[in-house]
Amino acid sequence: MPEAQPELPCPFEKRFPSQLVRDDVFFMTLAYNQAIDAWRRDEVPIGAVIEVGGEVVASAHNTVEGVRDPTAHAEMLALTQASARLGDWRLEGATVYVTKEPCPMCSGAMLMSRVRRVCYAVPDPKMGCLGGATNLNDLPRVNHHVELTAGGVLEEECRGLLQAFFRLKRGGPDGQS
Ligand SMILES: [Zn+2]
Repeated sequence: MPEAQPELPCPFEKRFPSQLVRDDVFFMTLAYNQAIDAWRRDEVPIGAVIEVGGEVVASAHNTVEGVRDPTAHAEMLALTQASARLGDWRLEGATVYVTKEPCPMCSGAMLMSRVRRVCYAVPDPKMGCLGGATNLNDLPRVNHHVELTAGGVLEEECRGLLQAFFRLKRGGPDGQS
């Protein structure tokens, strides 16, 4: 039996959006709630949700520390979940909602899985590969491009979560990852 880990208290509360309005804020709020779950497991608070046809087909959070796997980013886990759920590695009708701009690995996986659209909350000028540091969409010979909503959806909330987490971990005033 796996031992139960004591939960790390998170000063942020989960949100409970109306199920009736399934817009970007709705799905990003679910990703935000996943990020809070990550925090409670002492993981960098990043969450991802994948939507197809108005339904959630995957939701995950970063588990890199817990499973000791550098590929266990929220987006990677969500892409795997969605593919299993849909029985197809091609996620052509899918939108990925993620609380922080995807890194090189996750941005690449999104192109490889042919997701239709990516909506991220917090741009990442250091490692973001969908507009922040660079944009894999601009590779000249790639024939699949993802539609992008880059920042602006729950951005302040998701950034606040990340900054507070890193402040706690580093004991410093600034929490940019
Ligand atoms: Zn990543």
